[in-house]
Amino acid sequence: DVPLTQFLVDAARDYPERDAIVFLGKRMTYRQVLEASYRLAHALKSLGVERGERVGIMLPNSPQAVIAYYAVLFAGGVVVQINPLYMKRELEHQLSDADVETLICLDMVYSRVNEVKAQTKLKHVIITSIGDYLPFPKKWLFQLKNRFENTHVEIPEDPGVYRLKKLLSQASASPMEAPYKSGDDLALLQYTGGTTGLAKGAMLTHRNLVVNCCQAEAWIYKAQRGTDSILGALPFFHVYGMTVVMNFAVRLAATMILVPKFDRDLILKLIVEHRPTYFPGAPTMYVGLINHPDIKRYDLSSISACLSGSAPLPIEVQERFEELTGGLLVEGYGMTESSPVTHSNLIWERSKSGTIGLPWPDTEARIVDLDTGEVLPPGQVGELQVKGPQVMKGYWKRPEETAKVLVDGWLSTGDIGKMDEDGYFYIIDRKKDMIIAGGFNIYPRDVEEVLFEHPAVQEAVVVGVPDPYRGETVKAYIVLKEGQKVSKEEIEKFCRERLASYKIPRLVEFREELPKSIVGKVLRRVLLDEELQKKQ
Ligand code: ATP
Ligand code: MG
Repeated sequence: DVPLTQFLVDAARDYPERDAIVFLGKRMTYRQVLEASYRLAHALKSLGVERGERVGIMLPNSPQAVIAYYAVLFAGGVVVQINPLYMKRELEHQLSDADVETLICLDMVYSRVNEVKAQTKLKHVIITSIGDYLPFPKKWLFQLKNRFENTHVEIPEDPGVYRLKKLLSQASASPMEAPYKSGDDLALLQYTGGTTGLAKGAMLTHRNLVVNCCQAEAWIYKAQRGTDSILGALPFFHVYGMTVVMNFAVRLAATMILVPKFDRDLILKLIVEHRPTYFPGAPTMYVGLINHPDIKRYDLSSISACLSGSAPLPIEVQERFEELTGGLLVEGYGMTESSPVTHSNLIWERSKSGTIGLPWPDTEARIVDLDTGEVLPPGQVGELQVKGPQVMKGYWKRPEETAKVLVDGWLSTGDIGKMDEDGYFYIIDRKKDMIIAGGFNIYPRDVEEVLFEHPAVQEAVVVGVPDPYRGETVKAYIVLKEGQKVSKEEIEKFCRERLASYKIPRLVEFREELPKSIVGKVLRRVLLDEELQKKQ
């Protein structure tokens, strides 16, 4: 049992001069990151942050995001990651729910923070400008501002508002030991993706987070410490990027190449310039890259391994991306409630495409009957349950919700899947997304996979929309590849040749893009809301 901060202490001891971070032209070594984290930890303590207190971080991927995270843990606090794109309602919900008194945020979001401040317990706001750590090319600043909205960045001299840069320069850099009792200490309140509803705070402990990195090391990555570089395209405020990029990189003393916003051209430029070896991502990222008009002009050969998670990975995407990099792209699976990873394919061998792979070391997994809860044999479809040292303590302040998903250490994932004879797991869909049309159960993914096979289709999502006769009916939303044209009738015909008739989308809508969460999950509830509004 060690606190998560030990990873950073070890990396800075063994590889002090190795680059920890590369951020749009600026570099920071492990020694510098550790020192800055100590400074901020001292500053947080002098602001009165106590052991177990929740401290908010609202930053895009940046050196500050890494430093703030480790500083809060050194100070004994509990990190609450907040998506910097959150608007007032979501922000207020999360700050109040977690009782955040101290928040570290980007100057560009300060006006939003200020608007909700009175409704929360917020006392101290530490502000950083994205340019604090880099000679920022003007062009980037402009693009970032667009992404984080062009609020103005003049910050009033309010009491309780501090500048990160100033705090760091005034604070002591002396080593600090986290006031840590055991692996059971809370490290994070990590809010779930909010894909299906209001985000819930998963209580993740130091052990949960440490273990998930060690499992990753043992399972997917035969790496040598101090040699790799990892592309940080996934946001660190989301559990996936936090563990699989940030903490895992620190564990390996690898260099993180930070991407503050997902932008295909930026990512390609960073890959060519910094030659990362490992690129964890979400399927939409790989989809975006393979469809880049000039993709063939970029040399992606440094990438030897990619892990895809957070949503199903279409096989065509996997194969095409592997062709481009010459490395392997394998699928894994996890959720916020399990730190997040519980399954993946092996990364150094041909994976079993279309599966999420095998449970990680020390992780148990089973499929249970949706109605009776009985454990099912291989081949049968039911709900996936997982158990292991990476599974959360429970949801913050939500004992009833916790009791619903955690029983005897088994976490009910809410995902429907099956296991094959070799012990590989398949995710079919979320329980909540299953469509029941005219008495038939339809898994959207079955239909989406067929749509993906159509040469003109870039992306597709299938939703069950209310229907007076069938209860629900299948509707497909399709984004076509650039310059392609297809009719609804053609899509229907294509499906009819490949699917049982009750699964064929009765409604088809073409779109320029699909509403997505920050890790690229299609937000079905947004599409459904639009549909409901139309009906009114
Ligand atoms: P919320 O629980 O708030 O609705 P969320 O479930 O999307 O949001 P996360 O914890 O980020 O929040 O995501 C976990 C979910 O992501 C899983 O339960 C599963 O539905 C989905 N998922 C993750 N990896 C895969 C994968 N490889 N294939 C299919 N689905 C996946
Ligand atoms: Mg969930």
